[in-house]
Amino acid sequence: VITGDDYSDLLEVRKKKIGRNLSIGYQDKLKIVKGALQYLYDDKGRTFVDCVNNPSHVGHCHPVVVRRMQKQIATLNTNTRYLNDAITAYAEKLTATLPSKLSVCYFVNSGSEANDLAIRMSRHFTKQKDIIVLDHAYHGTSTVAMEMSPYKFDSKGGFGQMPWIHKAINPDLYRGPYKYGDTNAGEKYAADVQRIIEDLKEEDKAPAVFICETLLGVGGQIPLPENYLKTAYDYVRAAGGVCIADEVQVGFGRIGDHFWGFELQNVVPDIVVLGKPIGNGHPLAAVIVTEEIADAFSNGMEYFNTFGGNPVSMTTGLAVLDVIQEEEMQQHALETGNHLMDGLRKLMAKYPIISDVRGHGLFIGAEMVKDRSTMEPAVSEIDFVVEKMKAHGYLLSTDGPLHNVLKIKPPMTFSKQNADEMVRLLDIALSEL
Ligand code: PMP
Repeated sequence: VITGDDYSDLLEVRKKKIGRNLSIGYQDKLKIVKGALQYLYDDKGRTFVDCVNNPSHVGHCHPVVVRRMQKQIATLNTNTRYLNDAITAYAEKLTATLPSKLSVCYFVNSGSEANDLAIRMSRHFTKQKDIIVLDHAYHGTSTVAMEMSPYKFDSKGGFGQMPWIHKAINPDLYRGPYKYGDTNAGEKYAADVQRIIEDLKEEDKAPAVFICETLLGVGGQIPLPENYLKTAYDYVRAAGGVCIADEVQVGFGRIGDHFWGFELQNVVPDIVVLGKPIGNGHPLAAVIVTEEIADAFSNGMEYFNTFGGNPVSMTTGLAVLDVIQEEEMQQHALETGNHLMDGLRKLMAKYPIISDVRGHGLFIGAEMVKDRSTMEPAVSEIDFVVEKMKAHGYLLSTDGPLHNVLKIKPPMTFSKQNADEMVRLLDIALSEL
């Protein structure tokens, strides 16, 4: 194990010149200088397997994506006020992956910006302001996205909950009030959304929006219980609200069984928000809406976005979709993810500290507790495991409101061999606790 320099000079300049409220991972800092598919390389020539970087969806510096980006950026990059083939080709290819009613695209530059726009459009459409979110959710860093992110506004330094924001309980089958084995848990959790709608009604209000990830990321890598979204969407629509699916972390084939997270729940949202993976690390995000919502938004005021939809971004998006399809990455995510979850469940049988393994495809969480009966989060232990795994060349992270969920969402090229090795190394790290 090489422990590395302390990079004090670099850290000093960062401290002075870069915004300070940005944490840097790991006790011994990493200086990554190169990436290739699921691998990252540091300045000391060490190789790491990247188990968390879902924005590098088809792999760091995937050669097909890089080549097509290079060709486009050497040819033209400008705004969308000129006709260009890439934007329409991408809109057609992207909407072909979605149910037909989701047909109109708005291209932006980040997930935060996409969520912000999605909220603006929903408010135009419904003429309402109130938003229902899930507790612990994160939807981004713009002012509006922060307002709908309990993960931020409830945290240290947060500005608290705005009066037009309403938190529904996290449908967490492990930790929440309705647990695994409760066949009506989805409906019971969705009843909390209806409770909010009824409270609003008392004040002569109605929700503009219900926004929810289709598997919960920052909330703790949580697949939604069966019928949750269907029931919640029915309640929201009956009250005149719009249902937004935030697919920024989970969409684009990652979950294996389906291309989109909402398909696991048999629903069709009114708005889908995409980000991170769709540009493979290039700043590209999108809002895709129904004709009706697009019409309501087209009210005379122009919507123009300097970088959104530019030819380089669109070419990148097209290349990413081509690679996913040509390399059958969705199927690969399904098989590799199931294989990895099998391995993690074997560890769960051996080590009581792992109390839940959950996920779909290559979107996986493993919850760690000190005691299975009290469910006390194993915080120092999970930090120990993550550091140990890093020393062995596997980069993992933690998530969840209690900071006790191992978060696994690697580039889609992550292999079965990587999965086997990860499980073998986790076994060693857990045995050292
Ligand atoms: N939505 C979700 C679910 C996210 O996880 C994130 C980023 N972690 C965002 C939105 C915001 O995306 P960005 O950082 O690209 O603004």
